[in-house]
Amino acid sequence: MTSRDRLLDARRSASARAAALRAELRDVLDSASSTTGDDEHDPEGATIGFERAQAAALLAAAEARLDEIDAALARVSGGAYGRCVECGQPIGAERLGARPTAERCMSCATRR
Ligand SMILES: [Zn+2]
Repeated sequence: MTSRDRLLDARRSASARAAALRAELRDVLDSASSTTGDDEHDPEGATIGFERAQAAALLAAAEARLDEIDAALARVSGGAYGRCVECGQPIGAERLGARPTAERCMSCATRR
């Protein structure tokens, strides 16, 4: 499997996850608007607020992950994939295997 295939694979699952979270967030918003809107006296109000914040945070993380994968795919097309963006040294195969979207080699990543 090439790095590109691995990234495309990761992109598919990240994008499915983002879609599922988007649907979940929509559900939470729907159930929020179907209640009376009297949040203070509605015991469900606080729960929905929490669920909404949590779903939004998870969705933001999933979208950030998609961006990371897209950036890695752009580096593949540009021929820069697998090189550290900071020192220009090759990123170890082991590191790329564990984290295909890695932009920095181990020593640059841990120095930050
Ligand atoms: Zn480096």
